[in-house]
Amino acid sequence: MNRRAVLKIALGGVVGLTLPPFARRAFSQASIAVVPVSDGFVMLTGAGGNVLVRTVSTGQMLVDTGAAGSTDAVLARLRDLPGAGHVTTVFNTHWHREQVGGNLAFGRSGAKIIAHEKTRAHLATDYYVMNEDRYEKALPKEARPTVTFFTGDQTLGDDKRIEYGHLLEAHTDGDIYVLFRDANVLAAGHAIAPVRDPALDWFGGGWLGGRVDAQEKLLKLTDAQTRIVPAYGPVVGRAELQAEFDMTRVLYDRMLDLLKKGMSPQDMLDAGVMKDLKRTFSDPFRFVYDAHKGYWAHHNSLGPEVL
Ligand SMILES: [Zn+2]
Repeated sequence: MNRRAVLKIALGGVVGLTLPPFARRAFSQASIAVVPVSDGFVMLTGAGGNVLVRTVSTGQMLVDTGAAGSTDAVLARLRDLPGAGHVTTVFNTHWHREQVGGNLAFGRSGAKIIAHEKTRAHLATDYYVMNEDRYEKALPKEARPTVTFFTGDQTLGDDKRIEYGHLLEAHTDGDIYVLFRDANVLAAGHAIAPVRDPALDWFGGGWLGGRVDAQEKLLKLTDAQTRIVPAYGPVVGRAELQAEFDMTRVLYDRMLDLLKKGMSPQDMLDAGVMKDLKRTFSDPFRFVYDAHKGYWAHHNSLGPEVL
């Protein structure tokens, strides 16, 4: 570790420990950035997962609510935007905690919370987190989704111009997209991952085949002008979505092929399953491991030779 890194850590400790509460609040708010997306839409970053905000003077609508520890900072940012923090409607793209941490605050103040029924079910019970060998506690009732659906595409509003629907098993078993049709803004949750490694929560129902289908569906919903907001990373366009879909499909085909040869995740890596992709993964083994688990959970849909 060099001197600068040591200094940075020391300073971080000092800021965290000795500032009075109001200054600490200001410090944490500073970590939330307001990123323009489109007319009437911004994205808050730095709150765990991205929070998409539709800002109109009569009130705000959110897609995802960030991590619980960021809620105060998110609320402060929302108060400074058109609509002044009056949140009428919240969508949850899935049930992971970096997407639902602010639900309690918005549910308490009367916002409608819309999600897939599996998301509601996950948030209403303690559930096991396999990778960390622990249970995640159920959220209080006010933090849970109030409007849910199981299948099909849905619409919202008198003019039906907000469309949302299930992205079957793209990342978890409760993924949804939300498309603001007039503005051509699409929230895709973690069904796309333009920068960080795509995560497949195989224990929570996500798998590579689901991701292929989900990204294909997102391509059908978009055009060259669509602004696409992922769960993590920057706003992207259809070209980036297309590039990720192409990669996902290549990976799906390669892995299926290698799975039929009886390969383990390490065998697959050794056989070059991640070679010559247009991007590099920070943890290829983790991705291949999770994808491999997901195939086994779906072996009955892969054809008779995979058993
Ligand atoms: Zn997630």
